[in-house]
Amino acid sequence: MVKIQNYINGKLIAPTDGQYMDNLNPATGEIYSQVPKSHASDVEDAVAAAQAAFPAWSALTNEERSNYLMRISKLIGENLEELALAESIDNGKPITLARTVDIPRSQSNFEFFAKFIKDWGKDEFEDMGKGMNTVHYSPLGVVGTISPWNLPLYLFTWKIAPALAAGNCVVAKPSEITPMTAFLLSRACIRAGLPEGVLNIVHGLGPKAGQAIIEHPRVKAISFTGGTSTGRQIAATAAPMFKKLSLELGGKNPVIIFDDCDFDDMMSTTLRSSFSNNGQICLCGSRIYVHRPIYEKFRDELVKRTQFIKVGDPLAEVTDLGAVVSENHLKKIQSYINLAEVEGGTVLCGGEQVSLKGDLSGGFFMRPAVIEGLSISCRTNQEEIFGPVVTITPFDSEEEALFLANETPYGLAATIWTKNINRAHRMAEHIQAGIVWINCWLLRDLRTPFGGIKQSGVGREGGWEAFRFFTEPKNVCVKYA
Ligand code: NDP
Repeated sequence: MVKIQNYINGKLIAPTDGQYMDNLNPATGEIYSQVPKSHASDVEDAVAAAQAAFPAWSALTNEERSNYLMRISKLIGENLEELALAESIDNGKPITLARTVDIPRSQSNFEFFAKFIKDWGKDEFEDMGKGMNTVHYSPLGVVGTISPWNLPLYLFTWKIAPALAAGNCVVAKPSEITPMTAFLLSRACIRAGLPEGVLNIVHGLGPKAGQAIIEHPRVKAISFTGGTSTGRQIAATAAPMFKKLSLELGGKNPVIIFDDCDFDDMMSTTLRSSFSNNGQICLCGSRIYVHRPIYEKFRDELVKRTQFIKVGDPLAEVTDLGAVVSENHLKKIQSYINLAEVEGGTVLCGGEQVSLKGDLSGGFFMRPAVIEGLSISCRTNQEEIFGPVVTITPFDSEEEALFLANETPYGLAATIWTKNINRAHRMAEHIQAGIVWINCWLLRDLRTPFGGIKQSGVGREGGWEAFRFFTEPKNVCVKYA
């Protein structure tokens, strides 16, 4: 059984008090590795190592830091198969998804910021012949990153890569539910020759190890992705300490489908946007609003295609959906299916637990669900379920679709399907979301700002936004003689 270790000051080490937790494979329900149950003392060691490494790391040129990141990116690519297997076993997602999305994107995160940093330096503003302003961007020092279990290495590296590229040293905590690829990444960092203390990975529980990172006075900024209630708790600790905060939180994303859309393209993409990774992607569309003239056609086709989805062994090439991440999460999702029925909804298909045979008999599998007949105000339509569950509702006008889309506390992403580009832009302008996709979903350009509004978060990641977050600008103004 693999015993995961913390990565502190360039070394793989046991937690200071020697305590470990079990790590389960969600497809079998069996323990398959042990994770450090780190405490404040481990975080203290990690912060001290990061602090000691900061002067030398921040003094490197952008080019030199970029080279380290490129080496890590290359090692991720060379170990794609091992990492994809680890991600699939840890999270329950199909290995095909880990192989084509999670791990290639983790590799791209390092490569993208390695290249991007080469163009990052200073801004200059000349003031009508009176003087010259130069804005310098300096790294913050030690920064903390905390990431969730749904896209483990993908989101872990999305934070670490820009933080390191900008010259910071990092103390990072992956979710204790999916720690394996972060552990493998620490090995890659050692092989890449990353200087000691530049990146430190502390495994453990959120309220212990995570909270110790948030509270540490030397940690200057926190980049967090996770649930809205955890984000609120983190802000309550970090804001009075005047730390920089980036919070990427939950979503309840609307999909708005007009009757003039390309039906086939919309159908196949909507199936993906509903159920990819078992709906455990913050960007999945969970509330689908359909123009009344095509509502019944859409409903029947969605139910038919959903029933064809193959739920099974995450390691089998033919599997569409693997296991849900944990037993607790499966219970939470199923409680929402029951709630939807109590709230007057009709479950058109799915929602039931799936029992597989042999080694997989203890796994956490369920059939994806489609529900109709619910009001916008009910809890099923207001709260984030984060599972393979969508609700469908007809609408009659643009105004009604907008009202329905905006009527939740969340504002992460939205998708609009129509061939009328004027209408699409009109809707996009008024939709309360940080990201709007028109006739597509999850088409990502890493240069664009990523994040949500309302209770979906504060701040943006990606491109220059990430570098702005991980640096402090200083304006130097010189008056012309
Ligand atoms: P959680 O909020 O439960 O946990 C996220 C991370 O925070 C984990 O590493 C967790 O550790 C840690 N944590 C928990 N409590 C604390 C604390 N008090 N102090 C510091 N760290 C803490 O989210 P999930 O892992 O369940 O992830 C799912 C959520 O993430 C969903 O709401 C989803 O929408 C959101 N998400 C948002 C994205 C976005 O970009 N907006 C992208 C992806 C997911 P541990 O697991 O060890 O408890």
